[in-house]
Amino acid sequence: MVRYVTALVTALACTPSVGMPQGSVVIRNVTVIPMTGTGPAAHQSVVVRDRRIAEVGPSAEVTVPDGASVVDGTGKYLIPGLFEMHAHTSKTRGSALGLYVVHGVTTIRDQGSEHAEVLRWRREIRDGSRVGPRMFIAGPYLESLRNIQRMRRDPPESRVEPFERARIPIGSPADARRVIDSLSALELDHFKVRTVQDSATYLALARAAHAHGKRLVGHYVAASPALFLEAGQDGVEHGFPLSFDSLPRDRRMAFWRELAKRDVGVVPTLVTVVESGFRPLSYYQALVADTTGATHPLRPYVSKFMVLDWREQVEEVTPQRRAALERAWPSWLRQVREMREAGVRIMAGSDVAVLNVFPGLSLHEELRLFVDSVGMSPMEALASATRKPAEWLGVADSVGTIAPGKVADLVLLDADPLANIDNTRRISAVVLRGKLFRQGDLDALRAAVRAMPDIRTNDWVR
Ligand SMILES: [Zn+2]
Repeated sequence: MVRYVTALVTALACTPSVGMPQGSVVIRNVTVIPMTGTGPAAHQSVVVRDRRIAEVGPSAEVTVPDGASVVDGTGKYLIPGLFEMHAHTSKTRGSALGLYVVHGVTTIRDQGSEHAEVLRWRREIRDGSRVGPRMFIAGPYLESLRNIQRMRRDPPESRVEPFERARIPIGSPADARRVIDSLSALELDHFKVRTVQDSATYLALARAAHAHGKRLVGHYVAASPALFLEAGQDGVEHGFPLSFDSLPRDRRMAFWRELAKRDVGVVPTLVTVVESGFRPLSYYQALVADTTGATHPLRPYVSKFMVLDWREQVEEVTPQRRAALERAWPSWLRQVREMREAGVRIMAGSDVAVLNVFPGLSLHEELRLFVDSVGMSPMEALASATRKPAEWLGVADSVGTIAPGKVADLVLLDADPLANIDNTRRISAVVLRGKLFRQGDLDALRAAVRAMPDIRTNDWVR
């Protein structure tokens, strides 16, 4: 069995076809949900050639090219590949990249990692030697010098994360300019701020990023809404301070409308609260001790490093923390509902690496929360993980919708996601940049992930 799986990993890891032109793929007689603004279209055939969608049309009118791989889409639904807008790939380790694909996630945005290795993994995906999603990369977390100094004072055995590899201390405006200038020489897509030393340093970070034509996204670290707008921060993760509750509603709405006008991208990561905050302590303890999948079916697919990090996160699970989260939860939901009403671009992301948040699967849970707790329609929730992030990332000309000429990132579902958003999990096949993964291929990819070395060994060390 071990030898079989090892051979499979090698085969998948070395499959040159992912990065290369493919034979044609045709998905026949499927209901296409194109996410272009028009509704679903039944009895369509979608032809994929040379990694792109060549044709979409009524099955009766579309010719199947000779030698094409044909997938019968009868009774099934086709959506664009999904976007995960908040991942930490150094923490999940490289094995997680395959898990995204298994769950229909064809693009991720990394929001803080050791940049050298994440950039390497992206090169491997691009050259076809690794199976994984398209990656947008922030590079290291930008942190206040104060926060890093505090982390340095902790005893090393209390923290498994080699944090100096993934977090850059910034103590002054001059530091901010120097760090952003040096990071700008790398192939990073944007910058992610997590903590700031002071307001002057925050403004300097934003100015330096914008001077390099890059976005500054991350936590809400501004001392005031006015400072946030002055800095021009381009995206916000998780949410806004609970102190916003004390503002009159019309002032909050005016702020949200300003975010909408500026197209600030908001990624609420609601699933982290539910999954890492609201389960019983006994579940989390069992989860980190589990090796067989008794607590969660994906538990055996989590890297060794991630489990060690989760173990530290379990130490922080206290009744006080839970009570604080329960008090804050209605406010966070109301913020997201108000932002939706104001037209803010809300995008799906799940902060993969947080306790009990699983690569790939958690994105689907975030979509269900958007429907059940925020009040989105299933169509709107789907847009938050397809067209909306594609537009915001500036790649809408190639991904995020289903139309001729687009890159073929597609997910075939066994049931209608517009009838029930949970049906995004019922994946029958995935097309990743033109390469077809049928059910058997997805099963093999899942098995390959489980056999990867980082599942057994902590490969992210100081
Ligand atoms: Zn995060």
